[in-house]
Amino acid sequence: MLDRIVIVGASLAGLRAAETLRQHGHEGAIVLVGDEPHRPYDRPPLSKQVLTGKVAPEATTLAAPDDLRLEWLLGTAAAGIDRDRRRLVLDGGEEVAYDRLLIATGATPRILPDAPPGPGVHYLRTLDDAVALRADLLRSQAVAVIGAGFIGLEVASSAAHLGVPVVVLEALPVPLERSLGPRIGEAVAAWHRSKGLDLRVGVGVRGLALDRAGRPEAVLLDDGSSVVADTVVVGIGVTPATGWLSGSGIDVADGVLCDSRLRVLCGGRPVADVLAAGDVARWSHPAHGQPVRVEHWTNATESGEAAAMTLLKGDEADPYGPVPYFWSDQHGLKLQMVGRPEPSSETAFVEGSFEEDRLLVAYGSGGRLVAALGIRRPARVMAMSALIEAGAPFPPPAD
Ligand SMILES: Cc1cc2nc3c(=O)[nH]c(=O)nc-3n(C[C@H](O)[C@H](O)[C@H](O)COP(=O)(O)OP(=O)(O)OC[C@H]3O[C@@H](n4cnc5c(N)ncnc54)[C@H](O)[C@@H]3O)c2cc1C
Repeated sequence: MLDRIVIVGASLAGLRAAETLRQHGHEGAIVLVGDEPHRPYDRPPLSKQVLTGKVAPEATTLAAPDDLRLEWLLGTAAAGIDRDRRRLVLDGGEEVAYDRLLIATGATPRILPDAPPGPGVHYLRTLDDAVALRADLLRSQAVAVIGAGFIGLEVASSAAHLGVPVVVLEALPVPLERSLGPRIGEAVAAWHRSKGLDLRVGVGVRGLALDRAGRPEAVLLDDGSSVVADTVVVGIGVTPATGWLSGSGIDVADGVLCDSRLRVLCGGRPVADVLAAGDVARWSHPAHGQPVRVEHWTNATESGEAAAMTLLKGDEADPYGPVPYFWSDQHGLKLQMVGRPEPSSETAFVEGSFEEDRLLVAYGSGGRLVAALGIRRPARVMAMSALIEAGAPFPPPAD
């Protein structure tokens, strides 16, 4: 009998797990422990509508049924686990007993040592980060975004929408290459420039010039030049939030390593009473040779649900093997991607082009369809997801 389930990380994956537990009849206590002061909220609007002012910060709160009967420990960080005694240790030293524990602590931004957070220098992960960044954008004369990943490009689009001049500085020669591959990464860069974005690639940052109040005046580049900016946003990726698990015996190299049902591995073996979900989990995906970690909204939702089913059904639960999906809003358009391209994947334009702001690109590896990217083709992108799951050939069949 499962009695008390403790979920660490009061955000998307944790809340969806709690909801699923209740929907499927769990009657015992569910405790949500979160280090932020807020009830769970949605992060995707933070780099988009919250920055542009279209959505108020408080409107990002995630909807949940009223009758979940959750116990909240907010503004409270977990500091460790005593697995033998089934106790979660909080940062004040108090302990919370559990029968089952779900780790859903997400990820935190990687810090660029040459541009650490400070007045006018922003990293964007939380609601409070977004509120502080919007305040600076509204009074800014020039913004520099370091890192042309999805978050950086979304922030740049939002700043441009607010009418603030923005420069994006990317160290790699091709932005988004890891997510979209070299050919499409190049095409996305050209597309951004065609929309008026000043996107500079192959640019190393060596530091910031600060004024006497400690606020940025310019970003200093490796080649000796500089870019004037009074607001700097750094978006160079995230690190799974696993520091609090050191010494627990849980394998936390690049995320909490899990089996295919999201049970964590200790010494290579799954343990039945500790699971992980969301951005923090790196699990054995049934369709991939390597354990994978996915940093997207839909995976946080679905893995939270899947972990809850493992908590309830153990080995009877289905292995967790989704076709990953994410979206990104840039320049008022939604990019949608299903699947996981490999670095060596081939690409084929199935329809449209970036110039038309409407396209469908298929990715193939070993003669199989492995991923697809779309702009203004939502139904086709979803159809591609089903084809990927079915092991369809590449190039994919015509519509
Ligand atoms: C600005 C932004 C925009 C995004 N846009 C998109 C998008 O357009 N499309 C998309 O697919 N995805 C997007 N994402 C990604 C998506 O929001 C994440 O994948 C999702 O939030 C992951 O949910 P999670 O519950 O796993 O982790 P998180 O949402 O990161 O939540 C983890 C929670 O655990 C807390 N925590 C960490 N350590 C501890 C501890 N020791 N004790 C207690 N609590 C702790 C954290 O503070 C946090 O509240 C975006 C993310 C950001 C930041």
